[in-house]
Amino acid sequence: MGFVRIIKNLLSLNIPTEHSLKEGMVPLEDAKCPYCNSNFEKPLSRKKTCPVCQHDIFVRTLPFKNDKERIRVAVTEQQAENIDIAWAKVNGTYDDMQKGIQKYESKKKSLNKLWGIEPSGSDIEWHLLLDELIEHAKNNQWGLYRNTILRMAEHLYKLKEFDQSLRKYLNVLYLDVNGPSNATWFNGKPNLNERAFNPLEPIAFIAPGIIKRIVLLKDKRVCIDNEELKILFLEESSQVYAALKTPITPEKALQTLVEKDVF
Ligand SMILES: [Zn+2]
Repeated sequence: MGFVRIIKNLLSLNIPTEHSLKEGMVPLEDAKCPYCNSNFEKPLSRKKTCPVCQHDIFVRTLPFKNDKERIRVAVTEQQAENIDIAWAKVNGTYDDMQKGIQKYESKKKSLNKLWGIEPSGSDIEWHLLLDELIEHAKNNQWGLYRNTILRMAEHLYKLKEFDQSLRKYLNVLYLDVNGPSNATWFNGKPNLNERAFNPLEPIAFIAPGIIKRIVLLKDKRVCIDNEELKILFLEESSQVYAALKTPITPEKALQTLVEKDVF
């Protein structure tokens, strides 16, 4: 997504009216390219590159509150961004969206200054995740911290950094065994003395999706056996254990996971 363009849109745009949004947009059932008007055999079901003009065509639903019928449209990238902004305003997520974009732009600037070259979108996202991680740790928010580690694992997976991704997933698994939670806030400040890890007996909740991804990485991407996976788990959790003083030792966590047939 073009973030600079979104910012320009945010600054210039009020909530688009039904008329202004619809103008120049192609209803999905027309099965036409919004750029070059070429006809397709059937309506698009999702994003597609036009075989004639090679532009990316986006599929969206128009955000009108009085929607007796939901209007689906095939639109240009710019139109899709306008619709996303309009949706954010309707859903009340517009402020968050705006803050997210501001953070992204300021991170881009600071990395650019630091490195002397323009950072990639992926680099910017990674550094925003790192910032988030520090913020959650500082605020004693270990549930949120665990969620950020999970997003890092997903980020690395998308980059095909499978070894690093697997390590982050194991990190999530170890945190889950320890039952991470978020300290309560009072007067706008987190309670830093609150114990924010609370392992449940005999095992804290382990998300099946995490296990599935670890097995996929182990068998198909990194290609290691169970014993190597256990060593990796101990390596990763030892670092977390040392840094965060988590209540369950890596060995005990591994034992629990083996007993529960996770490994
Ligand atoms: Zn086209």
